[in-house]
Amino acid sequence: MSKSTPSHCQHPHNIETIFPGPLRLLQKYVGLFTFQNCFKEMENSMFYHTELIHLPDSLNSWKMINNFTKNTAYISIQQLLQKIIGQGHQVQHLLKISHMGTVHMTHSLAILNNGFYFCDCCMGVNLGIPCQHYFQVLSVVKGLRFHLAHILP
Ligand SMILES: [Zn+2]
Repeated sequence: MSKSTPSHCQHPHNIETIFPGPLRLLQKYVGLFTFQNCFKEMENSMFYHTELIHLPDSLNSWKMINNFTKNTAYISIQQLLQKIIGQGHQVQHLLKISHMGTVHMTHSLAILNNGFYFCDCCMGVNLGIPCQHYFQVLSVVKGLRFHLAHILP
């Protein structure tokens, strides 16, 4: 390829320099299987691009919205917001994670006001392994902290 690599498109072999903190925690506290799964998700996260979804002028916080037309995720963004708000959480940032190789592969991920996240792929909730979309966000959003609590026992 002659095209130059964008700065956000890191090669998988840089995983150790991109996620030193999470890797240190994982190495110390989780089993090999979980560690390997997380590492794989970290590698896959490098093939995505993250954008902040701006709050529409009519809203002062993320609540129910109904202007979503395309859905490639496991749940829709409406269901995502419904789950979050139904559990008494608030959305701090809503992000759109797009795969850099396939145009239609986008995910919505909400960063909650308590530092946790909810992704529309539902991998974290179902498998207890943070998904590649989360690791993509973790690699680009400053101030976001990795919690071991993201991993379900
Ligand atoms: Zn996800």
